Parts: sequence; structure tokens; C-alpha cells
Amino acid sequence: MNIILLGPPGAGKGTQAQRLVEGHGMRQLSTGDMLRAAVKAGTPVGLQAKAVMERGELVSDGIVSALIGEELDAMGADTGAIFDGYPRTAAQAESLDAILAERGRKLEHVIELDVDEDALVERITGRFTCAGCGKGYHDKFEQPRLAGTCDKCGGTEFKRRPDDNEETVRTRLAEYRAKTAPILPIYEERGIVSRVNGMADIDDVTRAIERILRS
Ligand code: ADP
Ligand code: AMP
Repeated sequence: MNIILLGPPGAGKGTQAQRLVEGHGMRQLSTGDMLRAAVKAGTPVGLQAKAVMERGELVSDGIVSALIGEELDAMGADTGAIFDGYPRTAAQAESLDAILAERGRKLEHVIELDVDEDALVERITGRFTCAGCGKGYHDKFEQPRLAGTCDKCGGTEFKRRPDDNEETVRTRLAEYRAKTAPILPIYEERGIVSRVNGMADIDDVTRAIERILRS
């Protein structure tokens, strides 16, 4: 199964993707994670992307689509893919069609996480992840069960993203509205879009997504 999780920054895409990975053995393909890894490693892609990401603007379509193709080639043909943060433009949506077709994959669901924009700044500025395993948390909405210790791997180091500040969030939201939200009709025409209330509790959102995957 191949699915897209669509929604503005902070909608809960990464949180839900991590749960689907654990529960269904699917693979999360987050272009944001791939780009952050490239920045950290200092690769040519990372050097090109760093400043763009710090501003909250979009990295070029060619770069992210190439990353997605490489990741798909590195995983088993039978492993399901969860696209998280990709596609973000009409050109990326078109590339994804070609990338999937070339690999004999079919897009089954586009799940839109519907959220109240006013909630997003709080979600994003409170977000942190385990430095060891990458599990996501929130200062208020999803704290580790034991303070300072990761539920998943027991790690005690956590990190915050440099672009998770209010000013950059505003730019990221504007980019979403201008370039990403307009791609929804492409998938609506195909009858594969489902909407989920992303303002519900994290567990309830997961349950709603699982119902869609079973349908
Ligand atoms: P995205 O990947 O869409 O940018 P995340 O999954 O990283 O968003 O979620 C952003 C922050 O909001 C995280 O800190 C996460 O713990 C928290 N969060 C995710 N889903 C919910 C929810 N349904 N209710 C409250 N907080 C949430
Ligand atoms: P994310 O982790 O999805 O919030 O993405 C963080 C940043 O990486 C974005 O603000 C963009 O600068 C860049 N990025 C991630 N995915 C894409 C994409 N599909 N297209 C363009 N830029 C992206």
C-alpha cells in the first residue's frame, strides 16, 4: 500500500507516520528528514538546501523527487510507503505519479489531516524528538512517560529543529497554502482523498487513519 499524508506543518503527519510504521511495517518517506540528514552530512544537496530550509521556503522539486526515487529503490518492492511532506507542489505530484508507475506501485490513499491553523504554531514550537531514535514528542501534548527518557529507546538526549520557530512557521504555512493545498484537487478527481480531523487526540487520529486503510 502507498499512501500520502497531507497537511500543513504541525498537522501530525510525522507522528501518525511513525505509528503506521510500528503497527503496519510500512516505511515512512519524509523528505524533511532526508533533507535534514543531507544537511547534517554536508552533502551537495544538504549545502543547497540548508538556507532554504532555515527560511521555511521549499527546496527545488528536482532535489526532493530524486531523494524519493532513491529511497523507494532502497526498500523492498512489497513494503508499503507513507509519503510524509511530499508531494508539496503540483510538479512534485506529477513526478510522484511517474516515480510510482516506473516501480509498479499504485497510490491507494491521500489522507488529509484537517487542522485549525491557530493550533499549529503551538504544536510546532513545542515539538522535540529523541536524538537517538527520532521519536517525536511535544512539551504539552505528548511528553515522554518518564520525564527526560525516550519511551521507545530509553535515550536521554532530545533535539529541536532550528526551523521550528514562530517566524519560520509563518513562512512554511504560507508556502503550504500557496503551493501544497492546491494539489488536493488532483487527488480528489481520482476519488482517493479521505479527510481526518487532525485536531482530535493523537490516538483518535490514528484510529481514524486505520479505518481508512482497512476500507
Ligand atoms: P508534521 O509532521 O505534520 O509537521 P508532527 O507529527 O511533527 O507534524 O506534529 C507536530 C507536533 O504536534 C509534535 O510535537 C506532535 O507531538 C504534536 N501533535 C501531533 N499530532 C497531535 C494531535 N493530534 N494533538 C496534539 N498534538 C499533536
Ligand atoms: P518538514 O520536515 O516536512 O517540515 O520539512 C522541513 C523543510 O524541508 C521544509 O520547510 C522545506 O524547506 C523542506 N522540504 C521538505 N520536504 C519538501 C518538499 N517535498 N519539497 C520542498 N521542500 C521540502
